[in-house]
Amino acid sequence: MEALTDKVSLVLDGELVEASTGARFDTVNPATGAVLASVAEASADDVDRAVRSGHAAARKWQRMRPSQRARLMVRYAALVEQHGDELALLQTRDMGKPIRESQGIDVPVMVETLEYFAGLITKIEGRTTPAPGRFLNYTVREPIGVIGAITPWNFPAVQAIWKIAPSLAMGNAVVLKPAQLAPLVPAALGELALEAGLPAGLVNVLPGRGSVAGNALVEHPGVGKISFTGSTDVGRQIGRSASDRLITASLELGGKSALVAFGDSSPAVVASVVFQAMYSNQGETCTAPSRLLVERPIYDEVIALVVEKVEAARVGNPEDRETEIGPLVDAAARTSVHSYVTAGVAEGATLAAGSAADPSSAAPGFFYQPAVFTDVTAGMRIAQEEIFGPVLSVLPFEGEDAAIALANDTIYGLGAGVFTRDVGRALRFAQTLDAGNIWVNSWGVLNPASPYSGFRFSGHGSDLGQATIDAFTKEKSVWVRLD
Ligand code: NAP
Ligand code: MG
Repeated sequence: MEALTDKVSLVLDGELVEASTGARFDTVNPATGAVLASVAEASADDVDRAVRSGHAAARKWQRMRPSQRARLMVRYAALVEQHGDELALLQTRDMGKPIRESQGIDVPVMVETLEYFAGLITKIEGRTTPAPGRFLNYTVREPIGVIGAITPWNFPAVQAIWKIAPSLAMGNAVVLKPAQLAPLVPAALGELALEAGLPAGLVNVLPGRGSVAGNALVEHPGVGKISFTGSTDVGRQIGRSASDRLITASLELGGKSALVAFGDSSPAVVASVVFQAMYSNQGETCTAPSRLLVERPIYDEVIALVVEKVEAARVGNPEDRETEIGPLVDAAARTSVHSYVTAGVAEGATLAAGSAADPSSAAPGFFYQPAVFTDVTAGMRIAQEEIFGPVLSVLPFEGEDAAIALANDTIYGLGAGVFTRDVGRALRFAQTLDAGNIWVNSWGVLNPASPYSGFRFSGHGSDLGQATIDAFTKEKSVWVRLD
């Protein structure tokens, strides 16, 4: 695969090509700061070519038997699995996630997602409605045409597949603009789509700038839907442009998720789930439980256990199988994360683990010492804003009413969870927590058959589950007069 080399092209209309302008940008390994590869930087003209080729490819794709399309997608899944180790290492090098996560989570999730959507292809049906009088009325689910997909750098592999798989399953082509900070696995996935025998132009991958290629995709009249995952600020901008064009945009955005731990839950289990969910992927996870709300009776014990784990965490070379926390994605991310640690200290929270010292040092790589703040109060910035790094805010509470008010007190609504042995309370919380994904006595479980979406400023629309049958097709109503 060319994506494994140090010179990477656009995947456009079935070929690996230079950008129309000849422009290129470098992608860096955040563990070393060294350039990993030079990547072709797509222009608005490249986007235009890709969208046109997408329409031609989608027509071919739609003419194939559903079972044949399903087989090709299964073949695509098998190729991703076969190349799993290479893709995992490429992702780890490009954005810093520990190799054991790239291998143990991201690769199986990609394969499972492709297989789930391959299975869905043969199950898309219309309806016959109870029509009045001498009429037959039925509905048909038609593909939208070309889907414009824009993805972030924190789960570059999984996010690309979460867009590609539902787009193809519903009969569409896709033009994917991955994040500049981690374009290599998406480029590899474009190559593997060709190797699997998918029609040329069905999966186009155009690395480049959000403000150029991303914007051109959102504005292109040939794009029938935008599927975006990224920050709330950019999501709102894209939502506005899409609504101007009267097309839909599914928006999977930021979060500030609360995990509520009641006094009847096991402090050891809570601490271990929080450590795993909060600090994996260096905390660069949209559903990280970055607000831990703990009932007073177990507050001190949970904190002691979390701090112990965080202080013992193995931070270092993400290619090492023992590493638990890799580097942040770039210097700007590290500066931004550290500004929150400085703000937390200034606001009067207690820094129970981590360091307030300036993290930029002579050592290469953008490593950051994981942090825990305790005695956080709801109004502090570290309790309200998405930090997107390994920084946990712990807030004490007493009683259910206080917990639910605190948990729902942000602009976001992506994930939320409750730990308790009381079934009634667990179900009351599942009802009242205002977030798209609720976990009870667990955190972060996902499956391609389950929808995954946020509420409020975390966006709307899902790339997973059967909801995609509606979201990635148009429903046509056909009336037939019977006499
Ligand atoms: P981002 O800055 O919003 O960028 C996301 C993507 O949008 C990138 O490919 C970016 O391109 C592109 N982009 C930027 N400006 C654009 C514009 N004007 N028009 C079109 N595209 C544009 O987000 P990020 O920093 O990559 O990712 C972190 C964010 O993603 C966090 O807020 C996180 O919570 C969120 N996230 C959400 C979910 C979810 O499922 N809800 C999952 C993962 C991540 P370039 O940056 O390459 O220029
Ligand atoms: Mg990189």
